Amino acid sequence: MTAVDSPPAPPAARRRPGAVARSGLYALFAANAAAVAVLFAQAGFGASALVVLGRLTGLYAALLMAFQLLLVARLPWLDRRIGMDRLTLWHRWTGFGLLWTLLAHAVFITFGYAGMSTMDPVNQLIDLAETVEGVLRAVVALALILLVGAVSARRARRRLAYETWHFIHLYTYVAVVLAFTHQVAAGSTFTASAAATAYWYGLWGAALTAVFTGRVVLPLWRNLRHRLRVTAVVHESDQVVSVHITGRDLHRLPARAGQFFLWRFLTRDRWWQANPYSLSAAPDGRSLRLTVKASGEGSASLRHLRPGTRVFAEGPYGAFTTLHRTRPDTLLVAGGVGITPIRALLEELHGHAVVLYRVNTEADAVLHGELRELALAKGAELHLITGPPVPDRLAPAELSRLVPDVTDRDVYVCGPPGMTTAVLRGLRELGVPRQQIHYERFSLAG
Ligand SMILES: Cc1cc2nc3c(=O)[nH]c(=O)nc-3n(C[C@H](O)[C@H](O)[C@H](O)COP(=O)(O)OP(=O)(O)OC[C@H]3O[C@@H](n4cnc5c(N)ncnc54)[C@H](O)[C@@H]3O)c2cc1C
Repeated sequence: MTAVDSPPAPPAARRRPGAVARSGLYALFAANAAAVAVLFAQAGFGASALVVLGRLTGLYAALLMAFQLLLVARLPWLDRRIGMDRLTLWHRWTGFGLLWTLLAHAVFITFGYAGMSTMDPVNQLIDLAETVEGVLRAVVALALILLVGAVSARRARRRLAYETWHFIHLYTYVAVVLAFTHQVAAGSTFTASAAATAYWYGLWGAALTAVFTGRVVLPLWRNLRHRLRVTAVVHESDQVVSVHITGRDLHRLPARAGQFFLWRFLTRDRWWQANPYSLSAAPDGRSLRLTVKASGEGSASLRHLRPGTRVFAEGPYGAFTTLHRTRPDTLLVAGGVGITPIRALLEELHGHAVVLYRVNTEADAVLHGELRELALAKGAELHLITGPPVPDRLAPAELSRLVPDVTDRDVYVCGPPGMTTAVLRGLRELGVPRQQIHYERFSLAG
């Protein structure tokens, strides 16, 4: 089938935005790690080996903490290039690294000072907390980080409601403030030179500014500017509704097909809950649309929304966009309600597209009618694949039968976790290069 839109020049020669952002982050971290080591060495050691190790681990814990803030700051430049899901995953692993580094700091310092006195480590810690300004704050910060680490372990995380876990996670900010004031009060490297003081104030200032800008200033500013409201709620099926939203100057909202927002509908009983939903149509500068399947109380309640309801939306977020294309042609694979960003992407894509839409029964294929019309208008191929999840109808053999030139295409995948994982594995088996594979999992907090 031929494409209606002429494909733009293949962007293979241009540097990949995700790789640029990743390299930038690694370089930033490496440069800061080196700066910390230099400032530490310049301050001189002058203590036992354990205390010196304790101080060094303390400084690296502070650096990791500042980096953690940057990873969750939701800065648009990083988010569009790396994606909130990956940034959240890195934040998760850096968090466990931070926890161990902080524990090492506490153990080295306590045992180091105990070795230089007549006290046992427990009494030494109590003594330090009582006599040295800032140490008690550090102990409380460590306890809070341990609590957050415990509830973030996979087994605990699965048992907690998202909101409970998120609320406990907010204590990290208290820990950050306590850790910073501990460093100011007790950190010998902090005051060793004017350069060291300026560096640490600069680092903490930059990290806190990033998080305040991305998490508070930008969302508030965008919502004040656009004043979003529900205009219509359309029932797509028993389980699925589309919510249409409008606002002022929407053409200035930098949203792209494939992205999502954290939506907060300001009704009396649900204003406190924000949930991530993708745009199910490419933004046209006048309206936004999301399409939601009822999976819990929050999503089920959307069918009762009334036109006129005010909306507070944080975003747009996500790297599941055409910014990351490397090839002129595309394969789009959707499973169930994972069709939402795929439908929006199809609208925005140039070049030839094949769409594989996997559902249990034809009745589950929401947005199918409009997808068919869109595919027709764009000269795209649309395959609706129905049937129970087993046998795997998107196995590698089936994928290459339906799309023989799959290795020459960018592939966008969005669907339930099991299907997404199976399709990604199949694509790698078929030899589709990693940089051509893009996916969105409908889960952020892992
Ligand atoms: C990037 C992204 C895009 C999504 N797009 C769509 C879409 O277009 N259409 C659609 O139907 N569904 C989408 N989802 C899934 C949708 O967000 C969840 O089904 C919904 O939040 C469930 O909320 P609930 O209150 O109904 O259920 P609950 O029972 O309260 O939550 C069920 C599970 O949903 C997840 N969840 C709830 N709130 C959040 C949150 N604020 N952040 C992250 N995870 C949360 C948690 O894992 C939770 O355990 C998307 C998810 C993500 C991460």
